[in-house]
Amino acid sequence: MERACAQVRSQFGREYELSIGGERVRCERKIESRDPSRPREIVGVHQSATPELARQAVEAEFSFFPEWSRVPVAERVAALLRAAGILRRRKLEFDAWLVYEAGKTWIEAEADVSEGIDFCEYYAREMLRLDGPQPVVQLPGERDELVYLPLGVGVVIPPWNFPLAILVGMTVAALVAGNTVVLKPSSDTPTIGAKFAEVLREAGFPECSFCLLTGSGSVVGDVLVQHPKTRFISFTGSKEVGLRINELAAKPQPGQIWIKRVVAEMGGKDPIVVDREADLDRAVDGVLASAFGYQGQKCSACSRAIVDEAVYDEFLLRLARKVEAIRVGPADSPDNYMGPVINEGARRSILKYIEIGKQEGRLVAGGGAAEGDGYFIRPTVIADIPPEARIFQEEVFGPVLAVTKARDFDDALKLANRSEYGLTGAVYTSNREKIEQAKARFFTGNLYFNRKCTGAMVGAHPFGGFNMSGTDSKAGGPDYMLLFLQAKSIAEKL
Ligand code: NAP
Repeated sequence: MERACAQVRSQFGREYELSIGGERVRCERKIESRDPSRPREIVGVHQSATPELARQAVEAEFSFFPEWSRVPVAERVAALLRAAGILRRRKLEFDAWLVYEAGKTWIEAEADVSEGIDFCEYYAREMLRLDGPQPVVQLPGERDELVYLPLGVGVVIPPWNFPLAILVGMTVAALVAGNTVVLKPSSDTPTIGAKFAEVLREAGFPECSFCLLTGSGSVVGDVLVQHPKTRFISFTGSKEVGLRINELAAKPQPGQIWIKRVVAEMGGKDPIVVDREADLDRAVDGVLASAFGYQGQKCSACSRAIVDEAVYDEFLLRLARKVEAIRVGPADSPDNYMGPVINEGARRSILKYIEIGKQEGRLVAGGGAAEGDGYFIRPTVIADIPPEARIFQEEVFGPVLAVTKARDFDDALKLANRSEYGLTGAVYTSNREKIEQAKARFFTGNLYFNRKCTGAMVGAHPFGGFNMSGTDSKAGGPDYMLLFLQAKSIAEKL
C-alpha cells in the first residue's frame, strides 16, 4: 500500500480530458481536485464541460446506442468480468487514489474498491440470468416469451462519498444491460472517474459506449437531465439535487417520445436503537464504527443513537471514552482512524451543525475542528437531543452523532421512525420478540440487528432507502438490473 501511495502521488497534478463520442476534448475552464488531508496538493486537473458539450455527449451516446444494444449479452458480460479483473489487479492503486482524492483511510478505501469489484461481478451474472428464458406461463397452442431490452441513453451522476463503488455500480449496470452512458463524476472526485474510464476501455467497452463528462453539476446537470434523447437518469447524492432531477425529468421536452426513468438514491438520517437488553459493549462499538467510519460521510452512517433510559448513562459513558480516543489526521497514515471531511464547504457546514447541536443538547465528546492543515473535525457526540431538534432531523453528513433517550423499546422504535428519511437502521437487543417487533415496524430500507448499520455487502444486503432516502433501487440485489431494462412480451400462435 505504501508503494501504491507513492506511485499515485507521483501522478498528482496530471490533466485529464473529456471523452465524447470517442474524441478527447479539452475546455477552457478546469476543475482542480485536491487532497482533503492536504488541500494545497492538487490530485488531478479536469475539464469543466460546457452545456453545449453536455448536449453533444447525449447525442453521441444516442447515435451509438443501436450498435451497442445489439452486441450479444455474453460479450458485454465478458467485458464486465474483465473490468472486475483489472480492478482486482489495480486494487491497491485504486485504494491509494481514494485515500488521496476522497480522504478515505486505508481500510475505508479498501472497502470501497472491493464493493466496486463486487458490483461488476454481480451485475455481470445478473445480466446472464435476465438474458435467459423468463418464467412465463405457456398457453396451449402458443409460444410465450418475455425478453428484456435496454432503454437507451442513461445519464449517470454519482456522489463523491463512494467515488469508486457507486460510480462503478451505476455505470456498469447500465452498460452491461446494453445502454449507452454519459458519466458525470462528482467534481470532488473526478480523477477516480477518469481512472475507471481507463479500466472500461482496457476491458473492451467501446470508446463510444460511454462519455466521460467531468463538469459542475450546476452547469451541465440540467442539460443532461432535460435532453429529449436522455432515456433515464441514475443518480446518487443529496435529497435537494435528487428531487430537482426528478422534477425536471418528469416534464417532456419537444421531440421526446418516452417517460424518463429516474433512479434517485439520496440522503439518510440513520438511527441505531440500543435496547436495555443489549450487549452494551457491542452496541458502543457498532455505533462508533457506524457514526465515525469515513468521518460519518456515508449515506448509511449512524447519525442518531436512540438509547433506552435504563442503559442511557452507561452507554454514553462508554461511548464518550472510546470516541475521545479516536485519532484524526491525514488519511494516508494508517494510524488515523478518521481522515478529513471532503472539502471546505463541508467543513464549514458540519461545524455550523455542531454549534446548533450544542444549543439543542449536551456535548459529551468532540465539538469542533481538529488540528492540522486538512479539513479535520473531531468526532462529536451530543446527548439529550429531542426529536424535533435540527440535528435529529437534518442530514449533517459528517462525524456528528445525536443521542436521544427512549422510555422503552416501543418509544425507541417510534423515535427511530420520526424522520423523512428511511435508509438504514440497526437494533441492538438480545430479545427475540423485540427483534420481531422491529422487523415489522422499523421503517427503513436496510435494517440490521446486533451489527453496525454501515457496510452493506453486494448480494447479501441489497441497498436502497424509503421515503426521502430515494427510490429504493436496491443496488446489489436481484431487482436492480431491471431498472435499466424494459420487458417485451412476445406470443406466437403455433
Ligand atoms: P450532491 O451534491 O447531490 O452531488 C451528487 C452529484 O450530483 C454530483 O456528481 C454533483 O456534481 C451532481 N449535481 C449537482 N448539482 C446537480 C444538478 N443540478 N443536476 C444534476 N446533477 C447535479 O451530493 P454529494 O455531496 O456528492 O453526496 C452526498 C449525498 O449523497 C448525501 O446526501 C448522501 O446521503 C447521499 N448518498 C446517498 C446514497 C444512497 O445510496 N442513498 C449513497 C451515497 C451518498 P458536482 O459534484 O459537480 O456538484
